[in-house]
Amino acid sequence: MGVGLQEGTRIRSRFNKEIRVLKRLGDGSQGIVYQVLYDGKPMALKWYRPNVFVDRQRFIDNLRNNIMHGKPTDEFLWPVDMTDVVDGSFGYVMELRPQGFVEAGDLFINPGLFPSYRRAIDACMGVVKAFRVLHNKGYCYQDVSGGNFFVNPQTGKVLICDNDNVAPAGTDTGIRGTPRFMAPEIVVENTVPSMQSDRHSMSVLIFFLLLVQHPLEGVRLTKCGVLDGPTQKRIYGSDPVFIMDPDDYTNRPDPIYPNVLKVWPCLPQHMRDMFTRAFSKTALKNPSRRPSELEWIRELTRFRSEVVGCACGNEVFMQDAKPVTCDNPGCGREVRVPLRAELSSYSLPFVDDMRLYRCQTCVCNADVALDPLAWVTGAVGRADVLGIENISSEPWTVSQGASSLVVQPGRTVQAIPDMQIDLNDECVRVRRNA
Ligand SMILES: [Zn+2]
Repeated sequence: MGVGLQEGTRIRSRFNKEIRVLKRLGDGSQGIVYQVLYDGKPMALKWYRPNVFVDRQRFIDNLRNNIMHGKPTDEFLWPVDMTDVVDGSFGYVMELRPQGFVEAGDLFINPGLFPSYRRAIDACMGVVKAFRVLHNKGYCYQDVSGGNFFVNPQTGKVLICDNDNVAPAGTDTGIRGTPRFMAPEIVVENTVPSMQSDRHSMSVLIFFLLLVQHPLEGVRLTKCGVLDGPTQKRIYGSDPVFIMDPDDYTNRPDPIYPNVLKVWPCLPQHMRDMFTRAFSKTALKNPSRRPSELEWIRELTRFRSEVVGCACGNEVFMQDAKPVTCDNPGCGREVRVPLRAELSSYSLPFVDDMRLYRCQTCVCNADVALDPLAWVTGAVGRADVLGIENISSEPWTVSQGASSLVVQPGRTVQAIPDMQIDLNDECVRVRRNA
């Protein structure tokens, strides 16, 4: 059958289902993806190019293992069936990418596809959640790139494909990763990908989604002219320098890519600190020093609620609910919010679509960290009236002065200054801003 498959080709799967090839959907380095009818249902088939594997049998055994274990969550376009090897090639069947999803790589080039910065943060939270689920199950993703994460920019939802590369941590499937996303130790030493190398790739993906730039691609890259093997090895492997490293200025962002220079100074300090840590020389050289999924979740849930709209249509980042000057050229308004939500370690602007998650209200493990608890909603036609909805599965107590009431799941109460909401170990206070 060679490299490609003809339209109308019929193949039997390992589970003895008929796969009928309908049309070619896309090409990748490993293979070609087709739309097929699988047992009569529209699905996708990834068909490998011959000779792309160092050890094909090991890869097939791992793929079969993934199929037998089933998808970790609905966010994975997981292999459901595979074919035997025919003329040196084989393939696996997965669900089709639904409408509305684009490759994450498209968003690195065109961040304007996100209608709000909050959707970009939601996408980052989806990425971290996916890694958390995989790592909890003992898997390692191994091959992060802009092409194997799909994002719906309207909702911020994430779907992960190319799960043929997923393998139990420590397994050598021959996969090393995609250049630019591989962790330094893999670039230099060609080691087997690990959960820690996944964490580096995950941080690169988050930086790309939020700042539209690769965190290690500064002037050292743009001034080198040709990106040959030795240069690539130095920039991503043996001598990586974060473009915003607070001590090493040798790899600052090139002004030809202005986005990172524009957004970085506006980021809340805790986000700048998190990136500085994730791409510090310590974390780049020591895999065990990289931020965990839970640490990312804590920062991202906080950041999500710090995004506030200015009257000009721009969005600003408001740390601790303090006034901030709009950075939109020609605007320069001071953006203020009338109310803030005080938590024990920080405050958030109390505005429409603010959310509180479990990790913000108690010590918890990564499994439940992203359970949403509370959601602030505006009343229709009344911008000055805000409610707070219980979107958890447990009742809360809300009090003001001597009076208190129990708010059942699914119910909303009007937010008023000095209201106190008891959520797990945290007591959230709604305060009027001075
Ligand atoms: Zn403005």
